Amino acid sequence: MHLETEKQFNEIAQSIPYQTIQYKDVAITIKRLDQIHPAISGNKFFKLKYNFSQAKNLGYKGVLTFGGAFSNHIAATAFAAQLFGFKSLGIIRGEELQSHPYNATLTFAHEYGMQFSFISREQYRQKNQVDFIEQLKTNYPDYYLIPEGGTNDLAILGCQEILSPSDLQDYQTICCAVGTGGTISGIIESCQPHHQVLGFSALKGDFLTREVQQFTSKKNWKIIDDYCCGGYAKVTAELINFIRSFEQKYQIPLEQIYTGKLLMGIFDLVDQGKFPSKVLVIHSGGLQGRSSII
Ligand SMILES: *Cc1c(COP(=O)(O)O)cnc(C)c1O
Repeated sequence: MHLETEKQFNEIAQSIPYQTIQYKDVAITIKRLDQIHPAISGNKFFKLKYNFSQAKNLGYKGVLTFGGAFSNHIAATAFAAQLFGFKSLGIIRGEELQSHPYNATLTFAHEYGMQFSFISREQYRQKNQVDFIEQLKTNYPDYYLIPEGGTNDLAILGCQEILSPSDLQDYQTICCAVGTGGTISGIIESCQPHHQVLGFSALKGDFLTREVQQFTSKKNWKIIDDYCCGGYAKVTAELINFIRSFEQKYQIPLEQIYTGKLLMGIFDLVDQGKFPSKVLVIHSGGLQGRSSII
């Protein structure tokens, strides 16, 4: 690993504020990872740290990764790549997106030097297949590959640093949003048996439980997909209304893909009387992707 890169990552991290809100009889403390860095926001900071360290260590000149057109991971990777002196290439889902103008996420990533390769949704589905990966490695030999959403073993290692020793001491119940499962896996790995980790899925289906089981053998966690609003990036009027009133009441910004669904789920479980008297919630950032319809 490349200690200088890790040190630089630690140096650009801003201090992470906590905000406690009271909802009915539950004190909900929100750990604002969205504030850790203006561009390498939230959980992506932790997911990228050791990947960039490894890429430097192995002498790569660029990083290559995957994402949709609104991906927080794409935005964060582009920024970090430029900061740490790498070229960057994003394999983007959706051929039709080639035509300009780019949306805000792609415009941002492009400004920070990311080149794009737009592929069809069908091709994109092969992104984890050996042949596809081998082809990319042949085509881009000096690029370090980071999977979609940034989830790999080094990302999980980084996410073990999300909870501080005092978080672990002060809270038993910890809630976070789940996309590919990397963040929750790191959090689970850093916890002890008396902790309970609840993941609120942004996607429909129970495949994420199997995914997370590949990264951890611990059992004190659960993934809930009841608040995914029908699936990834899907929204309902209820969700949008929830986000609006939450933001107005508590002055904490959310977005519609992850953190809005997370807080909506937590509030509903409090309504059902299913929560202990205090919980820690990880605000994983992602505000660059906040929709203008909110
Ligand atoms: C990427 C992202 C997630 C999902 O993290 P995973 O490690 O893929 O589960 C959650 N919240 C926000 C805001 C994100 O940008």
